[in-house]
Amino acid sequence: MIPLRKNIARMAGYVPGYQPEDPAAYIKLNTNENPYPPSPKVLEAIMAEVGEGLRRYPDAASRAPREEAARLYGFRPDWIVMANGSDEVLNNLIRAFADEGDEIGYVYPSYSYYATLAEIQGARVRTFGLTADWKIADFPAHYEGRLLFLTNPNAPLGFTFPLEYIEELAGRVAGMLVVDEAYADFADDTALDLVRRHENVVVTRTLSKSYALAGMRLGLAIARPEVIAALDKIRDHYNLDRLAQAAATAALRDQDYFRDAVRKIRETRDWFSAELRKLNYAVIPSSGNYVFTTPPDRDGARVYQGLFARNILVRHFSDPNLSHGLRISIGTREEMEKTVAALSEIG
Ligand code: PMP
Repeated sequence: MIPLRKNIARMAGYVPGYQPEDPAAYIKLNTNENPYPPSPKVLEAIMAEVGEGLRRYPDAASRAPREEAARLYGFRPDWIVMANGSDEVLNNLIRAFADEGDEIGYVYPSYSYYATLAEIQGARVRTFGLTADWKIADFPAHYEGRLLFLTNPNAPLGFTFPLEYIEELAGRVAGMLVVDEAYADFADDTALDLVRRHENVVVTRTLSKSYALAGMRLGLAIARPEVIAALDKIRDHYNLDRLAQAAATAALRDQDYFRDAVRKIRETRDWFSAELRKLNYAVIPSSGNYVFTTPPDRDGARVYQGLFARNILVRHFSDPNLSHGLRISIGTREEMEKTVAALSEIG
């Protein structure tokens, strides 16, 4: 027997969304990737970085992308830490704030990777359900957990918590309130302003979705400099390689390209949601680049299989509270037209 820590031996590990060997064989709507390519300026910046300079370590402070993000979001660079995917910064937040045996909380359903990260750390996990009007059910007046993770917009459901409600929660949590804004670029609101007003609020972002850079692994957190300094102590000192730093800087700089892609995805989302309703599918109004939809017979697995048989890959969760529906990422208009045609055959 290898001498594993007990919680590592016990834990199952996170299972990411299915990545087929030949993604080109599918209409791939299962992991909320962007259907459009990254900005051509990003590809140029990466290519310009490929060369003999790769023998040198990257800038440990990721200054160029941090300064670009600082300009974009209106914060000083010492309020920003870059990450190797926002998953890295979620992990480091738990490592910074939750000791073994401490509690972290998150909303169920949302991103279950918080629980995996907590298990690795040996922290306890408490989940909070939702009310019918998308508030947190039975949330204490004073929550003593070390961290509360709010996925906003919610994944996989797509709704958002109003900003006033998030601000109220910031006052009710003794620990840190982490607003995971992986999908906020597709929404109308952001909690970034709360970071200025509340010392316990952290916002995390990713370049995986709205910037079409899932393959580069780029994310960031915005928080007060004391929080950023703590996260800086924990992270791999060279967490962003040279190509990733070049890509992030160019992507954040090319706002015209970014805005255009986001606009198209939002328009397609709204069109697709209306088409689903015509097929008598229930749709939760979504602020993300995906929709959660329920077929009339509430048999998500059946529709998943029907789509799979037509080479359309979506996400079905076996979780009994989600198995009635499907989470469908928003692809190009053409991909979504094919999906609507397939769904009208499947029923
Ligand atoms: N948060 C949420 C809610 C997500 O859905 C994802 C993507 N699976 C992430 C964070 C992580 O994104 P990444 O590590 O690619 O930045």
